[in-house]
Amino acid sequence: MKPRSLSRDDIVRLDRAHVWHPYTPVDTWETTAPIVVARADGSSLYDADGTRYLDGNASWWVAALGHGHPRLKRVLRDQVEILAHCALAGIAHEPSSALAEELVRVTPRGLNRVFYSDDGSTAVEVAVKIALQTWQHRGATNKTRFVALDGAFHGDTVGASSLGGIEIFRRPFASVLFDCVRAPFPDESAYERAFEAIGDLVKREHRTIAAVVVEPLVQGAAGMRMYTPEYLRRLREITQAHDVLLIVDEVFTGYGRTGTMFACEQAAVTPDILCLGKALSAFVPMGATLVTDAIYDTFRGGTDRALWYGHTFCGNPIGAALAREVLAIYEDEQIVAKTVSKAKRINAAFDRLGAIPGVARVRTLGMIGAADLEGASGYLGRAGWRVYEEALRRGAYLRPLGDTVYVCPPLVISDDDLDALLTIVTESVRATVGDGRI
Ligand SMILES: *Cc1c(COP(=O)(O)O)cnc(C)c1O
Repeated sequence: MKPRSLSRDDIVRLDRAHVWHPYTPVDTWETTAPIVVARADGSSLYDADGTRYLDGNASWWVAALGHGHPRLKRVLRDQVEILAHCALAGIAHEPSSALAEELVRVTPRGLNRVFYSDDGSTAVEVAVKIALQTWQHRGATNKTRFVALDGAFHGDTVGASSLGGIEIFRRPFASVLFDCVRAPFPDESAYERAFEAIGDLVKREHRTIAAVVVEPLVQGAAGMRMYTPEYLRRLREITQAHDVLLIVDEVFTGYGRTGTMFACEQAAVTPDILCLGKALSAFVPMGATLVTDAIYDTFRGGTDRALWYGHTFCGNPIGAALAREVLAIYEDEQIVAKTVSKAKRINAAFDRLGAIPGVARVRTLGMIGAADLEGASGYLGRAGWRVYEEALRRGAYLRPLGDTVYVCPPLVISDDDLDALLTIVTESVRATVGDGRI
């Protein structure tokens, strides 16, 4: 049977009647005209009305290899024919075992064990539980607290959002979130002070701290806030010296986004636990949590020491097969090396953007460029959304983070598309700050 094909108006009608959208105020949704994406290709999204939009954020930071890569489509089809799903409890299969070996090979040295889950949030949940249980195995039962940074985002399940430091995301759930110790964000000018604060905390309270959790070099959801690799390097030293685990969440920064395959590499750091998601498996949800042998080995020695934890789709063969092909494409097409010249274009464009009156601050790292609009009023600011509307009119999807306007395009975006995207960003910002409405 052919799937029913709906008109654009029907899609919007059914959507408004029944779909609850993520991160979207209900009233706003009901009163604004949505884009209706009918298909996507490369760095472009195509509306059902035929309009093309450049995908300025790689579809929520996922489509590092763009849309519709022919090798990924082929692997998806092939894997469905062979094995679409089976449990991972008591069963091994080729995609998940081969992928584990490949992930161990590409990630920082020393991470030898892979626990699979469903997405970025669960990759973090797994990390939290592994950290807690590891300290129980080691007899340090007081080590139950976590430290995370102001503005952190580690996902939306209850455990992951307990680590989160974005107030508006936490507030409704504060009563059930677990206690997390907050450390200051290492902003450029305040980096030394921020390091001292977390250093003092770790020194003073390491007996009760299970782990420090960070997004390496860039806090994505907080507004593409960037910090120096030096902070991460020193954080690794201080956590190691005081027996505190370091959990690095590369769900966003991994897979070349910051100019190296993993952001940790820029600080020459191996964390105790590494979380992966998003670009990991191209377009099928999947998470992976990598740990050291030292952690894994504490789970030996009896049934009560097992990790009694797992998700239904752990290591699902389709996601794993895609994730393997993603890594093969990175290698064959030299994806990360080829971002160097594109990152320079992003950097130059945002430098120029910084000179526009009304733009408070700009920053770039690898394939990320961000600009804070003046008078920025945080996540609920409206100026970013005016830029969004201007950009839509000019042919780009540029969802802001409050009053931070950013690009984070597919790493494989062509130079022409990238230049077009950067021109749209500039024109849209100019149109917004130029109208005197900020
Ligand atoms: C998106 C994100 C997550 C959560 O991933 P989901 O797949 O949305 O659950 C976790 N950590 C970071 C740093 C992220 O950017």
